[in-house]
Amino acid sequence: MTFYNKIRAVNSILNKTSKDVQSFTTGASVSCVSGCFECCTKNIFATELEFYPLAYHLYKTNQAEFYLEKYNAGNKQASPCVLFNPSMHNNEFGCSQYKYRGLVCRLFGFSFNTGKNGELKFATCKPLKIKYKERLSELPKMQILKPEMKNYYSLLYKIDFYLADEIVPMNEAIVKAIEKVLFHYEIRNTKKRI
Ligand code: SF4
Repeated sequence: MTFYNKIRAVNSILNKTSKDVQSFTTGASVSCVSGCFECCTKNIFATELEFYPLAYHLYKTNQAEFYLEKYNAGNKQASPCVLFNPSMHNNEFGCSQYKYRGLVCRLFGFSFNTGKNGELKFATCKPLKIKYKERLSELPKMQILKPEMKNYYSLLYKIDFYLADEIVPMNEAIVKAIEKVLFHYEIRNTKKRI
């Protein structure tokens, strides 16, 4: 698989995930707590592979260096995610690259894990546990599409086993993806010039 096809393949998994999660949230009538961005400020782990479409978009729009500099300028300690924008800008705050967010970002709060006895467990966050405390046990039993975290990650494994298996802190995953994409396309452009 070429590098570009790998990016496209990851992108279609991300799109499918968003569609499935949306189908679940609509079917179950659940949604995030309004204005909550707690998941973006937690120390979450991810794979660099799930951020390849983001990195490619940043490369194509000349924003890659901006995020690398932001990370290197001290954001490592300040925020677990370099894409998170805590201040209000154009009436928005939160993920500055929402369309290109990672797989874990799309599944967070609205996915399922398998318990010890094979039962589905709603793997959600604290704010949603409080918001839906009366309905938590009924959600896994609903006859609707229930996104299981492991199914989406197994699709990533099919694209690149090694990269899908490497789970690192969020910022590290994003920065590695950006560096990998920059390196790939810079080498390619240099070869073209020679
Ligand atoms: S990539 Fe975006 S959605 Fe995911 S943790 Fe970072 S700011 Fe939040």
